[in-house]
Amino acid sequence: MNDDILKVLYSKQDIDAIIKRLAGEISRDYAGKNPLVVCILKGAIMFMTDLVRELDEYVELDFMDVSSYGNATESSGEVKVIKDLDTSVAGRDVLIVEDIVDTGRTLSYLIKIFKTRDAKSIKVCTLMDKPDRRIKTVEADYVGTQVPNEFVVGYGLDYAERYRNLPYIGVLKPEIYQN
Ligand code: 5GP
Ligand code: MG
Ligand code: MG
Repeated sequence: MNDDILKVLYSKQDIDAIIKRLAGEISRDYAGKNPLVVCILKGAIMFMTDLVRELDEYVELDFMDVSSYGNATESSGEVKVIKDLDTSVAGRDVLIVEDIVDTGRTLSYLIKIFKTRDAKSIKVCTLMDKPDRRIKTVEADYVGTQVPNEFVVGYGLDYAERYRNLPYIGVLKPEIYQN
């Protein structure tokens, strides 16, 4: 699996440092609150589990799986809920945890539905942001790092369901896409 990687963008140590900083900001902003942390499956799973273990406050966890159809490396305009939350968001401080914001379609859709469900507040924490590719005007409140316009894998992020279990984030060798 490691042989498929062209270059490492963020080592586990880099990711740990990013998470410590984000967790400090989030703990400060949510002091005394009991936010509902919504992990967007599957890509954000590693990030969410590491992030919440660095928070000082009580939190509740829930999961949502959404899919935006398209080819393997690019999303289409359509977003569909594959697995919805178990928890009601009405009156809750919702913190959406995402792996990466790319076109912004997924995020703008999620924010829209949580608004219609009467969340008290909605904020977004993303590990990575690709602002160059934005189609929908949407910004995360907490951004781990900005990434160039390259398709990244590892630490939860996949290519064709592989590479999620890499402990770092990297870029695949071009021949992997051509197979
Ligand atoms: P958006 O709706 O913002 O275009 O895309 C959001 C989703 O597409 C992300 O949550 C992620 O699952 C997937 N995605 C976007 N960019 C990348 C990337 O560089 N690598 C991987 N593996 N997934 C990506
Ligand atoms: Mg995602
Ligand atoms: Mg994916």
